[in-house]
This record gives sequence, C-alpha cells and structure tokens, in this order.
Amino acid sequence: MTLLLTTPDVAALVERRTLPGLLKRLEQAIHADFLRWPEFDKSARLATHSPDGVIELMPAADHALYSFKYVNGHPKNPRCGLPTVMAFGALAEVATGRPLLVSELTLATALRTAATSVMAARALARPGARSMALIGNGAQSEFQALAFHHLLGIAEIRAYDIDPAATRKLAGNLAATPGLAVIAADSITEAVRGADIVTTVTADKTRATILTPGMIEPGMHLNAVGGDCPGKTELHPAILAAASVFVEFEPQSRIEGDIQQMDAAFPVTELWRVLRGQAAGRASDAGITVFDSVGFAMEDFSVLRVLYEEVTALGLGRDVALIPALPDPRNLYSILLAPGAADSARHRPGHATCCPRVQVEFST
Ligand code: NAD
Repeated sequence: MTLLLTTPDVAALVERRTLPGLLKRLEQAIHADFLRWPEFDKSARLATHSPDGVIELMPAADHALYSFKYVNGHPKNPRCGLPTVMAFGALAEVATGRPLLVSELTLATALRTAATSVMAARALARPGARSMALIGNGAQSEFQALAFHHLLGIAEIRAYDIDPAATRKLAGNLAATPGLAVIAADSITEAVRGADIVTTVTADKTRATILTPGMIEPGMHLNAVGGDCPGKTELHPAILAAASVFVEFEPQSRIEGDIQQMDAAFPVTELWRVLRGQAAGRASDAGITVFDSVGFAMEDFSVLRVLYEEVTALGLGRDVALIPALPDPRNLYSILLAPGAADSARHRPGHATCCPRVQVEFST
C-alpha cells in the first residue's frame, strides 16, 4: 500500500507539530541532506514552457530513496482562482521501486522554500540580522516571514507588493504573531532601506528588475526567491556583479536563476560547499551576499522523507492501493478476472514479507 497525504493532512501535521517546530525540522533535514550532497543522484529539473507558465518535473535520489515533484508556475493563475504554484510528489524505495508516499506539495513547497531560505541566510547573512524587506506578498510570503522570524530572529518585516491587497493580506495573517512587526511600505525603496535581509518573492513571467543597485546597502543579504525560470528575474545584473552569489545546483541555476543574466564564466558557489566548510560564505561585514534560489529537487526529497516519517508516527494520511497487491506478482491479469481478489490479497499473511515496508533512516 502507498500512503496518500492531502493538503488537509499536511495542514493537520503543521497543527500537531506547530509551524515553528516543523520549519525547524525541515531546515535541519535539508541541511543534513545538503551535507550528504555527493551521495545524491542529481539533475536539473525538466521544464515544459508555455506562454503563461511552466510545468516542471524534479527528481532526486540517494542509495535508499527516490523522490520526484511535479510543480507549476503560472503567475496569472490567481486571476482564475488558482494558486501560482501548485505541486505534488512521491517518495519511493530504491531497492524495489515501490512508491511509499504520494503527497500534496503545494503547502509543503512553501514550507521547504522558507526553510531553505533560512538555511542559506544562516550561513550567509550577517549575524544578528533583525529586519527584513519582503517584496512580493503572495502565497509564499507568510511562510518566508514566519520562518525568518521563528528560526532566525527577524523581528521587523517591511512589506511591499504592487497589489496593496496582497500586503494587507500578509499583515492580517501575521497580526497575531507576538514579537513580529509588519510594516507596509509605499515602495520597494522604502521597504529595502536599512534592512538586514531582503527577500524578493514576486511572480511575473518577465525579466523584472525588482531590486536596482542604488537600493543595496553594505552588508545586506539578498534572498532572491522569485526569479526561478528562464526569462523570469528579479535582480539588476549589476547587483549580481558586485555581490558574492550562492546557488543550489549550478547547472539548473545557470538556466533558471537570476544568474541567467550573467555569462557562463560568472563565478557562483554552490551552497552545500559553504555548509560543508569547503568554500567561503560572506567575506566581510560590508559585503553583499545573494542566495539566488530557484528550488532544487533535493529540498523536496528532504521534505518528502520528513513528511513520511512524521505522518507515519502520527497516523495521518491513508493507505491507498496505488499498485496491485497480487498473490502471484506475475499474474497481473488475475485482477481483471476477480476484481475483489486484489483487495483481499493484501490482507493475506505473507504478502510483502520479502519486501517489508522500508524503514527510513534519518540523519537529523
Ligand atoms: P503569488 O502569485 O501568490 O504572489 C506573487 C506576488 O508578487 C503577488 O502578490 C504579486 O502582486 C507580486 N508582484 C508581482 N510583481 C511584482 C513587483 N514588480 N513588485 C512587487 N510585487 C510584485 O506567487 P507565490 O506563490 O508567492 O510565488 C512567488 C514567486 O516565488 C513565484 O515566482 C514562484 O515561482 C517563486 N517560487 C520560488 C521557489 C523557490 O524555491 N525559489 C519556490 C516557490 C515559489
């Protein structure tokens, strides 16, 4: 049987573990997997582009587990009542190929993206950062704000969106968070002025220039989340040229990140090398660091294995017959002869005893 997790299941998990608790668990899991970077089978995601958006497939695997995510990016979707970003994915055991988990990943992507942003900022931002500008106040924004607040101590968010209703929504959703002040700014310049960290998480399928060089102050860390697709950028190239730039998986980031604007020789550092102490992070207090985030399959691998462990422990989700349970695995046709038999077969003693449900080992 395969475990199925719906969006309400993941919301229930957040409620049981608390949002700060789950974000912390995710940051630890992603960090632990990034430290194991060479053990992973990695590839740039496979993207199918259309005039209004993109649909992507994102696989990753280690010796024991395989995962993939299906995700889209359609910035005009909210106009027809759909999120810009929607996702689902699966976790399978490498030894047999058996799917262990099929899960919603829309909510989980917002959680993992925020956890990854914090992981990068923890390594790259100046210690003691307290204020963050948050440009783009859509679906991802609360998750970014709360992850930076709970995990990194950000106490003030200066929020800006071209749609004032989006900023009101963000401020309303965060109003009850003790110790976090959300200030609506009238412009990007006003939001960014004096901020320790600047997060850009806008959605527009265009070469946007959200941040220009004149807005950038010494020591800032830029968490550039929204430029994640060919032809979709947020940072002026002169900002990148003047900064130390860190990426997830360089072959994918060269195509999709803000660094798509730079030539192939432009130097970037993969974040895992900083986390493992194999490359320098921030060079000085006055330097500018950029995390050119696009979202990498290994982060979804980490999230899927955390979801699998957590919901198994809590008894959330439900088993579904996604693959046939057969008394004789070579007699697939028997299901058509006796449709009820496959259902009863999974209750027979001995079924799957040679391949017991995988025990996922966690390094965090
Ligand atoms: P969304 O559509 O819910 O919100 C986007 C917001 O950006 C909207 O409120 C919109 O008004 C605002 N916006 C657009 N242009 C702007 C501009 N010029 N200035 C200020 N605000 C502007 O989308 P979302 O789900 O929040 O995602 C935001 C972006 O993050 C998307 O581009 C998405 O692809 C990207 N994303 C990246 C990752 C990653 O891992 N790097 C993960 C998830 C989403």
